[in-house]
Amino acid sequence: MAKEYSLVPRAAPRVDTAFRKIVTDFPVPESLAILERLHAWEPLAMRGQPPVVWSRAEGFQVFDAWGNQWIDWSSGVLIANAGHGRREIAEAIRAQADARLLATYCFPSEIRARLVETLAAILPEPLKKIFLLTTGSETVECAIKLCRTHGVRTGGRSKNVIVSFEQSFHGRTLGAQQAGGIPALKEWIVNLDHGFAQAPFPDGYRTPDTSFARFERSLRENSIEPQNVAGVILETYQGGSAAFAPPAYMRDLRAWCNGHKALLVCDEVQAGFGRTGALWGFEHYGVVPDLALFGKGMTSSLPLAAVAGRPDVMDLQPAGSMTSTHTGNPVCCAAALASIGLVLRENLAENARVVGGLLHQRLRDLASRTPQIGQVAGKGLVAGVACVQPGGQEPDGELAWNVVRRAVEKGVLMFSPVGYGGATIKICPPLVITEAAILDSMAALEEAFAEAVGAQAAAA
Ligand code: PMP
Repeated sequence: MAKEYSLVPRAAPRVDTAFRKIVTDFPVPESLAILERLHAWEPLAMRGQPPVVWSRAEGFQVFDAWGNQWIDWSSGVLIANAGHGRREIAEAIRAQADARLLATYCFPSEIRARLVETLAAILPEPLKKIFLLTTGSETVECAIKLCRTHGVRTGGRSKNVIVSFEQSFHGRTLGAQQAGGIPALKEWIVNLDHGFAQAPFPDGYRTPDTSFARFERSLRENSIEPQNVAGVILETYQGGSAAFAPPAYMRDLRAWCNGHKALLVCDEVQAGFGRTGALWGFEHYGVVPDLALFGKGMTSSLPLAAVAGRPDVMDLQPAGSMTSTHTGNPVCCAAALASIGLVLRENLAENARVVGGLLHQRLRDLASRTPQIGQVAGKGLVAGVACVQPGGQEPDGELAWNVVRRAVEKGVLMFSPVGYGGATIKICPPLVITEAAILDSMAALEEAFAEAVGAQAAAA
């Protein structure tokens, strides 16, 4: 359960580097009126993030209205792949708005044609049909529907089981929560659909056995007949830890799905558009799924999401049966075309690979001298730093929380810890971040760790 940040300002140390500036206490006293209005009018569930009141965001930096500036390690929540506030994206949005076509529902538009054509051109075979939606959760719901439609057509009504992975997160709508693998998030669902089951994710850390035999064993343990599996869905890397599966496991899973006429779905809502050092996260596995789901980093700005898939699967539902009010909104399409153009032209997947290499090397160095770091996972510009009790794997959410709080007070913006025990510090800057900014932000993280570990020891 996410903790809430205190609204009592603390005297934060003043910071002034080329990229980070903290010139006020924190939370900023002048920002309290805004925070209090949000607290008054929004549900409690909206709290839980560091109380930085964003005023402007550009490139890899976020600014408030009181002179503070942060290196952003959040990308919003993995949105700003091409960078925050990019002029090219803002201009594309403005041009489309000036063209006075702000919404079209499912009526055709040229810009929607351009976007689906562009996505089909850059995705590998057989992901050649594209359905545009608005949120990541919506793409997951659509994937569940397509898997079950395909299953029932190929194997009858008992072929409806959706297998996903423990600790996975696929969104907050009913189907997406049931595909998710975090039991606490499902406590409100009193009549769980028995057609969902989870296997352990082969991360090599919390699940030491990364053999594909473990997947097959977990189906037996759940009394699931392989022929009844309609689809297997996984985050290309687990959002809660940034862990990838071994490529050999994924190749076996691909072959298993083919053998049992089950669809393989990669949820690329976080991993797509260059984040992991490849344009698509599944490239690291040498397999292509039957359906790939995108959102977040697709526009670096406005809400837009997409399901890309095998044409025969995408065409299973008849005309008019997969719609969404804001599908392919023209302004969002303009933002996506501009953002994708930047990711490709500026080779941001390659920047993620190179600059991410430096980030991971620095994180491994820090982990080697910090017994409170149990695991560093991820690739490219996504990393998960798991905080643990030294000598074991017991998560230490309190430490992770304190590290994030201190890092934010030093000018490195992160969202609250995620994953198992709320103990994983997630690092996911915009893909335009430079090596100099990585080194500067790592210096702040190292200080934050040293101070938080020191404070913990002093309190013990
Ligand atoms: N899938 C993954 C892997 C995600 O990380 C998220 C959001 N964090 C979602 C799906 C849901 O996306 P949205 O919040 O846009 O519904």
